[in-house]
Amino acid sequence: MATTVKDQLILNILKEDQVPQNKITVLGVGAVGMACAIRILMKDLADELALADVIEDKLKGEMMDLQHGSLFLKTPKIVSGKDYSVTANSKLVVVTTGACQEEGESHLNLVQCNVNIFKFIIPNIVKYSPNCKLLIISNPVDILRYVAWKLSGFPKNRITGNGYNLDSAHFHYLMEERLGVHSSSCHGQVLGEHRDSSVLVWSGMNVAGVSLKNLYPALGTDAHSENWKEVHKQVAESAYEVIKLKGYTSWASGLSVADLAESIMKNLRRVHPISTMIKDLYGFNEDVFLSDPCVLGQNGISDVVKVTLNP
Ligand code: NAD
Repeated sequence: MATTVKDQLILNILKEDQVPQNKITVLGVGAVGMACAIRILMKDLADELALADVIEDKLKGEMMDLQHGSLFLKTPKIVSGKDYSVTANSKLVVVTTGACQEEGESHLNLVQCNVNIFKFIIPNIVKYSPNCKLLIISNPVDILRYVAWKLSGFPKNRITGNGYNLDSAHFHYLMEERLGVHSSSCHGQVLGEHRDSSVLVWSGMNVAGVSLKNLYPALGTDAHSENWKEVHKQVAESAYEVIKLKGYTSWASGLSVADLAESIMKNLRRVHPISTMIKDLYGFNEDVFLSDPCVLGQNGISDVVKVTLNP
């Protein structure tokens, strides 16, 4: 009887069910999607990574390129497909599909095009992974988070968006540059709407619990000679500058998204400034999604921190 090399080498003693336990899907294999994918792989967050996009050659090429690096990774299965069945049984779906900003374009211009794309992709995600958490990256992120919530029918805790996790990280970096202290030891939040109309909470800026605003009450105002107000402007405008210089932004987004994915996949319950339903907070009565510090774990957003804000 002819046997294969595998049969000669291996005696199978258990027929295993191959359903993934910690699967992550990244939708969209553009610059941001692939930055998210590589960082998710390097952090060992998933036992299966699925990629989906409409451009079949690019999709297959990106999958193969990652598969060829399997020796250096600890994610045993990397799959891709145009058909959404490839995303089945995901615990987390990262959505980066859609149009991206051109030089000088506001991300609000992207809304109708991306809403149309979401009308197709969100029902498909729900069909194949009805219990997943959704992490929206496509811009304008706060609006598309609302759209994804409406289209999916998911409870609001299971949908979030990367906006201020990235902008706050950038803010920490600018504090680091000015103070000479690593950004992980610089604390401060950028809240509200991602980028253009953001709010920098000057009263919350601190190092080791020491409030910068208490040390220097003029901080963030025109009266302050060190012009810290410029820091806020830089956070709001930096993406436009990066897009002007290299055509798109990607690396910082990928790092930020994987950081959020880690909190969800490992149930870390860390606090991140991320897009959440702001109703009943800060005087809002409407179903509005904006960034606020949230506790993020295996069920998505479980708690929202009520930030002390002055008028
Ligand atoms: P990109 O153009 O490089 O990639 C987008 C991908 O989406 C492409 O591969 C495209 O084929 C795919 N796509 C389009 N329609 C699709 C559909 N119907 N189904 C499946 N795939 C589809 O763009 P990018 O630079 O990767 O940016 C992606 C999005 O992320 C943009 O909306 C951008 O503004 C946003 N973004 C968000 C943040 C954030 O922090 N929230 C940061 C940077 C970029």
